[in-house]
Parts: sequence; C-alpha cells; structure tokens
Amino acid sequence: MSMRRRRYTDELSAANDGERVCIAGWVHEKRDLGGVFFLILRDFGGLAQVTLHRGDVDKELFARAKRVPRESVVAIEGRVKGEEKAPSGYEIIPERIEVLNESSQILPLDTTDKVGAELDTRLDARFMDLRRERVKHIFIIRSRVLRAIRDFFNERGFMEVNTPKIVSAATEGGTALFPISYFEREAFLNQSPQLYKQMLMASGFDRVYEIGPIFRAEEHDTTKHLNEATSVDIEVAFATEEDVMSILEELVAHVYTQIADYPGLSRLGTGLEEGFDVPKVPFPRITYDEAIELVSESGEQIEWGEDLSASAEHVLGETMGEHYFIIEWPSAIKPFYAQPSPHRSDICTAFDLMHPRLELASGSQRVHSYELLRANIESKGLSADDFEFYLDAFRYGMPPHAGWGLGVERLLMSMLRVDNIREVVLFPRDRRRLVP
Ligand code: ATP
Ligand code: MG
Repeated sequence: MSMRRRRYTDELSAANDGERVCIAGWVHEKRDLGGVFFLILRDFGGLAQVTLHRGDVDKELFARAKRVPRESVVAIEGRVKGEEKAPSGYEIIPERIEVLNESSQILPLDTTDKVGAELDTRLDARFMDLRRERVKHIFIIRSRVLRAIRDFFNERGFMEVNTPKIVSAATEGGTALFPISYFEREAFLNQSPQLYKQMLMASGFDRVYEIGPIFRAEEHDTTKHLNEATSVDIEVAFATEEDVMSILEELVAHVYTQIADYPGLSRLGTGLEEGFDVPKVPFPRITYDEAIELVSESGEQIEWGEDLSASAEHVLGETMGEHYFIIEWPSAIKPFYAQPSPHRSDICTAFDLMHPRLELASGSQRVHSYELLRANIESKGLSADDFEFYLDAFRYGMPPHAGWGLGVERLLMSMLRVDNIREVVLFPRDRRRLVP
C-alpha cells in the first residue's frame, strides 16, 4: 500500500464523503457489536472510526480487523462516509487493512486514559505514555513554546548561540557538578552557559540567546528539580538589570499569548478548560528587604542575608500574585558575577522571577570590572586561577552587560499547572532515573 497518499485523521471530515483515502496509525480501541465491528485508529492528528459491517465486507478482512491486537500499527484504505454518530463526524468503510507491525498483547500502559497509572510506570514506558492524548498535547505545547521564544528573540535582533557543555570550571556555586572523564583530565558538565555568554559580550555580539541543556547534580528528589534541564539564557551588552527584566516579562507574556488559543490546553486535565489569562506587564517588583518584612508578618523570621525558604515563597506568592520579581538581593547569597547595587554596598542588582512556590528565572546586571570580578571570585572562596580564561575577557574592553537564565520546564509546568516537572520532559533525568 503506498503511503504517499496517506492522510491524517484530522484532515478528514464528513465533507470528504465518498472519497477513497489511506490512513495509517495505531489500533486505539476495538468494539465488537456482533453485526458491526469498530476499529478506532489513532494517528498524530487524532482518532478515526473504521466501521466493518459483517456481511458487507470480505470475511477475511473482518476476521483480520477483529484479530489485530490493540496498539498494532496498521494502514487502512477505504471510503469516507459522513456519520454523525462517529467521534469525528465521519467513518471509514475499509477496503484493505494492512497490519504493518503487530503489537504484543499485554500492554505496559493503557493509551485510552481509562486506566490511570503512576508517573513512574508511565516514565518507564514513556514511548507508550506519549501516545496518550493529554501527554501528546504537553509536548506539542513545549515545541510551540520553544518556537515562540525563538521568534521573540529573532524579531528583536538577538543572535542564537551555542556554548560548550563540557567545561573545566563551575559557574553556579549552589549546586554540585557532574564530573566526567575527559581523556586524561577531569572535566564537568556545564551548570549554565553563564561564563561563556558573558565572554561573548567582549566579542561585540551584544545580544545573544541560547536554548540548551544545563546539568545540575541536585541531590534532592523534588517535583521542581531535574538533573538535566533546558535553560533559555540571554546576555545583553550596554544594558542594566531593568532592561533585561523588561525583556523577560515581555517574553513570558509573549509565550502565554502564543499558547492561549491552543485547543489542546483544555485537554490537559489541569483545570485549563477555560484557558488562561496572559499575564500583564510590567510584573510587580518587591525588594528582598520588603519580602522578608512581609514574611515576618506571617510569623516566619528570616535573618537578613538568608535565602528565602519554600514556605516564605508561598507567603509571598499569596500577596504578589502569579508573576513577580524579587529584586535587590544581598550580594552574599548571589553569585560572584552579580553587579553590586549603585546605592548600597551590601546588596546587588540580582533579581529572581517568581511564580507561587517556584523560581522561574534568575538574572542581574553583571560585574564588568576585571578587578572587582577577580576579588568577588576570591571572596566566594573560589580560585581566580581556575577562571583565568573567563577573566581574560574582562581585561581588553568589556562593556557593561546584563542577562538572565529561565528554566523552560519551570515555565511550562507553571503555565500548564502541572505538579511535577517530569511531566514536561520527554525522558527526564533525576536522582533515580537514568533510563529510558
Ligand atoms: P532553585 O533555587 O529553584 O533550585 P537556582 O536558583 O538554583 O534554582 P539558577 O542557578 O538561578 O537556579 O538557574 C536559573 C534557572 O534555571 C532557575 O530559575 C530555574 O528556572 C532553572 N533551573 C535551575 N536548576 C534547575 C533544575 N535542577 N531543574 C530545573 N530547572 C532548573
Ligand atoms: Mg536562581
């Protein structure tokens, strides 16, 4: 059977009545009503009802349709017939059914959503889990989000770059590194493109973005941490933290706008039947000082200079709403590359973009003075010698610059109201999971 004329099930409707077509996909369901047999075929577009009337069709064809195990791959040639009672308003009256590959009988998962399964079971048989409608929509949305992000930056004169993922030094103090063996030396998987995107600021490529993997040896098994995540990073020369915060909030609003009318949103089962509201820019800002003050009113005391706890973030979320920035952080709890505030020596230009219970992004204006950067590295207990390749870029003309990193999975899980970050990754990596 030639696949060249193959049509997707959602390309067809009652308007194609009488046409001879070829469809191909998986046997989603079989329903035997005695005199009539329904085979529901599933492809990327959706479902189609294939109807066989005993007596009208060839005996052998009838028997083959009944015999083929669920989830087998089949190609079907037949005529379209408008049928109001069929799920998509039409049915296919088959003339030929070719079994391209037969499925084993006992399935690791149910693809019809009639039987639920634990996330772990689903991830073990992810290829099968992805056949489920709600899961399919998550990844269509993920792909659209990535496209929306690229469009946003490309329209604004940004250049897409790729920086190395095998590196010699750590960037983010907070989380551990994954060491790898690199010939006769030790190397690491990169935690973020931070150092490299900053070095590009000295190259004259003054608006860059990267969408790429970041690796974090997070010890803890949480619903918002992965060991391999995808980060959107930008760095902009001749910019302040305020400049890149506006880019970030506009990007988030743009992504929401691009996804808001996607019909599959209502099929996710996460309460988005009515869709969602596009967040309004500018997002509210709260300083770190105001934040700990607000949290103390709820009874939790945070010492100045301590990081915010999960419960503190929860309190803030209730007051601040869906998206807000925490600004003016103590320098001591932010990375060495955060530029100090021009007004106060103990705070810096770092900001976090928050969603209730979740950090979506972190950024700052960056230190561009070689001397200050070197001193900051040393004051964090790191060896400046390990950062010579990076520091060099600051000695021969480094413009002031600012940037941020936004977790793609965090953006998706918050937008789609999914509880566990693993839901939005095809093959997630966590402390316990290295396969599939
Ligand atoms: P958190 O405090 O939530 O662990 P972080 O402050 O350590 O995050 P950053 O180093 O600021 O993270 O990284 C920038 C962004 O990358 C984060 O705001 C988040 O969106 C994303 N990100 C960081 N670590 C992870 C991870 N382990 N899994 C998923 N996304 C992550
Ligand atoms: Mg952060």
